[in-house]
Amino acid sequence: MQLFPCPFCGLRSEGEFHFAAEAGKTRPVTTRDVNAEEWAAYLFDQKNEKGATREVWTHLPCAEMFIMSRDSVTMEVLGTQTLRKLPA
Ligand SMILES: [Zn+2]
Repeated sequence: MQLFPCPFCGLRSEGEFHFAAEAGKTRPVTTRDVNAEEWAAYLFDQKNEKGATREVWTHLPCAEMFIMSRDSVTMEVLGTQTLRKLPA
């Protein structure tokens, strides 16, 4: 089992994490801004790029979401970035 770094808790077992989405997607402001096909594409279409990727993950015990950069081929974690400021 692989260890993933949570920016708030440190290294934890990958089973504690949940993939949320590829990073960089822009969510429509409301579902009224798009038709059903465009909304479904926003929710379900993924690029599934090979190599370096940026993804939004959630660490379930602390419920924090963050961006994890990793290589989709080797599964090496390249870094993390918080979506909010870390507590001082
Ligand atoms: Zn955490």
